[in-house]
Amino acid sequence: MSAARCRACGSTDTTLRGRKPGWTSPREYSFHDCRTCGLLFVEPFAGFEIYDDAYYRGEGPDPFVDYESEYRDWRRTDRGLEFDDFARIADAHLRAGDGRQEAGDGKTELPPVGSSVLSPVSCLPSPAQRSALRWLDFGCGAGGFLKYLRARGTINGHPLELTGHDVGSYADLLARTDGFRILDLAALPREPAATYDVISMIEVIEHLPAPSEQLALVARLLKPGGLLLLTTGNLDGPVARRQGIHYGYCAPEIHVSLFSPRSLAHLYRAHGLVPHPVRYRGVVDFKVLKTLRHRPALRALARSALTLPPVRALVDRLYGVSAMPCATKIQAPNGQNPKKSQ
Ligand SMILES: [Zn+2]
Repeated sequence: MSAARCRACGSTDTTLRGRKPGWTSPREYSFHDCRTCGLLFVEPFAGFEIYDDAYYRGEGPDPFVDYESEYRDWRRTDRGLEFDDFARIADAHLRAGDGRQEAGDGKTELPPVGSSVLSPVSCLPSPAQRSALRWLDFGCGAGGFLKYLRARGTINGHPLELTGHDVGSYADLLARTDGFRILDLAALPREPAATYDVISMIEVIEHLPAPSEQLALVARLLKPGGLLLLTTGNLDGPVARRQGIHYGYCAPEIHVSLFSPRSLAHLYRAHGLVPHPVRYRGVVDFKVLKTLRHRPALRALARSALTLPPVRALVDRLYGVSAMPCATKIQAPNGQNPKKSQ
């Protein structure tokens, strides 16, 4: 039998790590390691049919999914914790970029974000004067993040122009009932290159059977200097390494492309993106609290424990949350698309 082809880099220098059954049937799925890029990937791909209404109610392989609550009111879920974190990271990225623009020199070294040497907010133009920030939420799901961003209105003084990308009944609702601009699988690739300042891709990439194709699209749609906010589980964190393919995140019917910091950085670089280190706070909290959704007493205890920085730092280290980089698009000096050949 020939070696399985890596879903991310296309290499056939891969080895079988093990097999386990899926959630819906005793059918076995195989997990392969790519020696070239480090991806752990699943064969065969079970198909997208599993993403039905029961799945979105948390009655499928992922019991922590709850689209209905998120669609009705994301404020009643824990997702606001990670939304605040993404807004904070985007805000810091924009402050650095705006600072460079105000300095009039793309190469100017800036003081660290939060430093008092940075332009105070009161000196910045009002939101109406600042250029719009075009934000794509790739895999917008039940739309909680789009609604959060709409309610927020601005990031670092830039008014937000929001677009979502997804398919299915919630995508239809977000477009028809909530008035969001939602692009489907056919419409998104028709967007012009370098359209978006920020693209968020929250817990999406692990579901994709061809992550390289989607990253190529994202990289094309991102403006030079733009920010890709991407989260996915870390298969190289201490807990994941200890549990191997029996780690709960290794749900072979839905999570088929399983990344580590190394394989994610490899994929970014293949598409002209530069790994961008992040230090998460609310994202760490959310990852813990969502798993305790059905255990209110434990959830309340965890919620207060996570306010202690050493506790959050320990959880972050055990699961390798902040070890997974986001990315920025290279600023090409000649204005050309800087995508490297693979
Ligand atoms: Zn690979």
